[in-house]
Amino acid sequence: MVKKVPVGILGATGSVGQRFVQLLSDHPWFEITALAASERSKGKSYKDAVQWLMPTPLSSKIANLTIQPCEPDLSCRIVFSGLDSDVAGEIETQFARAGKIVFSNAKNHRWDKDVPLLVPEVNADHLQLIKQQNFGGGAIVTNPNCSTVGLVMALKPLHDAFGLHEVFVVTMQALSGAGYPGVPSLDILDNVIPYIGGEEEKVQSEPRKILGKLANGSIELLELPISAHCNRVAVFDGHTECVSVRLSRKADEQAVIDAWQGFTAEPQRLQLPSAPENPIRYFSEDRYPQPRLHRDSGKGMTVSVGRLRKCPLLDYKFVLLSHNTIRGAAGGAILNAELLVKQELVPL
Ligand code: NAP
Repeated sequence: MVKKVPVGILGATGSVGQRFVQLLSDHPWFEITALAASERSKGKSYKDAVQWLMPTPLSSKIANLTIQPCEPDLSCRIVFSGLDSDVAGEIETQFARAGKIVFSNAKNHRWDKDVPLLVPEVNADHLQLIKQQNFGGGAIVTNPNCSTVGLVMALKPLHDAFGLHEVFVVTMQALSGAGYPGVPSLDILDNVIPYIGGEEEKVQSEPRKILGKLANGSIELLELPISAHCNRVAVFDGHTECVSVRLSRKADEQAVIDAWQGFTAEPQRLQLPSAPENPIRYFSEDRYPQPRLHRDSGKGMTVSVGRLRKCPLLDYKFVLLSHNTIRGAAGGAILNAELLVKQELVPL
């Protein structure tokens, strides 16, 4: 790409917003030209408004950008949204109506009939749905919930090879998933919180849209019962999930491992800049995957899977790990945008 596409970040000061800033600071196709957040941050330089939590230094060019209000006259064509769901729905609609291509992380538009709920390795074809949207030149594309992303990535090769009959999942979700400053330390240290508001409903429903079929301009949901327990644990980044699955067709253990290890999809074929070489990394060691050791696999875009064994209730059980603010949020949304650019679905 000769000239980079100007992009803005909504909610740039938050947990997801900071990841966007980090991942886009040196992106080969996109250039950050606008940062926006709430009234609290408006008018300040980014470095003064943000509590920078990324391990990499904040580039001086971005640090000195002035935070703007979330109004749709920002000077950019694409916006990445890390907005809180209390405000995301309306603001993202306004931006799309003003002709911006919005890549959202919030729940608000995920179930709109003409809005793709996208994980490019799983349902790249669903991006075609934006042709049905009526925003003039704008569009909205959503990311699933951060726990759903890892789950559908691990399930997709099994769905393709053997079919899925039912799924049971227990999540252990990182603190950064609760935003900044998030859960008070006195609530989470030495503790596990067995409740995350609204999360189980999302994990139980979103995979059905993502794994659904695009037919005649709409998504037919996959018939798939999922039972989810969602827990908050004292891990900084990286959601771990213990999954049991019943398959539609019998498969031996090696066939399941082969399905994961051989998995590659559209982002890899198109060599999108954020696509990991291996979307799924399988571990044969009993004690892996672990968040501290493996969350950054494939620059945070690879989903790690391990501990495959027979399940006495369903067919198989296994453990997966996925980085919640990279694969599960900012990195996933950037991969969505790269797919849209590569497919030339809209003029930029
Ligand atoms: P967060 O840390 O609380 O950040 C929220 C951002 O929204 C901040 O930049 C904040 O700006 C801005 N904001 C709040 N109220 C606003 C308003 N009235 N007008 C304009 N901006 C406003 O939250 P987060 O964890 O980054 O999550 C952001 C979104 O991504 C949520 O919808 C969340 O569900 C979703 N998500 C999060 C994760 C994750 O792992 N964290 C993963 C997937 C999806 P100020 O700093 O100026 O207040």
